[in-house]
Amino acid sequence: MPNPLLQELCCLLGQPVAGNPTQFMMEKVLARHGLDWRYLSFEVPPESLGDAVRGIKALGFRGANVARPHTMAVVEFLDRLSPAAAAIGAVNCLVRDGEQLVGENTDGKGFVQSLVGVFDPAGKQVAILGAGGAARAIAVELALAGAARISVVNRTPERGLALAELITQQAGTQSDFVPWSAKYAIPAEIDLLVQATSIGMNDPEARLPVSFKQARPELVAADVVFNPADTPLLELARKHGCRVLDGLGMVVYQGAACFKLWTGLDPDTTVMREAVEEFLSL
Ligand code: NDP
Repeated sequence: MPNPLLQELCCLLGQPVAGNPTQFMMEKVLARHGLDWRYLSFEVPPESLGDAVRGIKALGFRGANVARPHTMAVVEFLDRLSPAAAAIGAVNCLVRDGEQLVGENTDGKGFVQSLVGVFDPAGKQVAILGAGGAARAIAVELALAGAARISVVNRTPERGLALAELITQQAGTQSDFVPWSAKYAIPAEIDLLVQATSIGMNDPEARLPVSFKQARPELVAADVVFNPADTPLLELARKHGCRVLDGLGMVVYQGAACFKLWTGLDPDTTVMREAVEEFLSL
């Protein structure tokens, strides 16, 4: 049973948590809806993840967000998974259901929602950089949204191959794995490039080994990195004449879906967006 002496609690588990606007965004939107809840951030090393999840359960937290590098590893510590989280094999949101902690995944849907108005993935060719928790969520949702083919470009072959297989299994969508050892030259047939590695987060100097030389200017380039919001990859894509999408919309929409799961309320996404921009001094 949740502890009646405590206000409702939610938290973020990640490593690092500095530079992540989630706590600031959630506190603003909880206040906007008049909820006297608390949202905390905890830096959790991988070897302590199980203890952290057991602590959330013991202390009666209403829910939690899970960030890198824990989104895949957290699965083994949960009582059950939602169908989306089970399909993706990663969890970014924990929700209490009675005595159980349930793993949900709102990252992929949040990304696809942030694409609306910029790009319709149906029938399109996608290349995704990365094969971690964020890439898995985004790839599965893009496949379910009707993408014609998804190439997975990743440094570690095992993870890249596993994601390519998952995409085909979950949605029947064609997928291939591209080993990322040297510079990845984006092929001319790609319509959407999604940067879903952790390269560049909190590191504005980081450069990805990617070349736009063969890419068409009609390409849309999206980056999940939100700090900085305008990444070197997006700058390079703009120079090539491509349209770009930063990671801020995904932060807002994946968070809005978590808020709804915890509170039952549809959050004010304008307040959430403004909070993220204020946190990042945009
Ligand atoms: P994971 O740790 O699960 O995966 C990281 C991925 O990045 C792996 O594919 C890894 O490749 C790749 N990678 C890391 N370093 C390098 C490198 N030097 N060279 C090549 N590849 C590298 O992280 P997540 O998937 O959970 O998160 C990825 C990013 O997305 C993070 O920055 C996270 O903060 C961000 N994110 C943003 C969201 C938003 O709302 N905008 C929501 C969720 C996540 P390999 O498999 O070879 O190790």
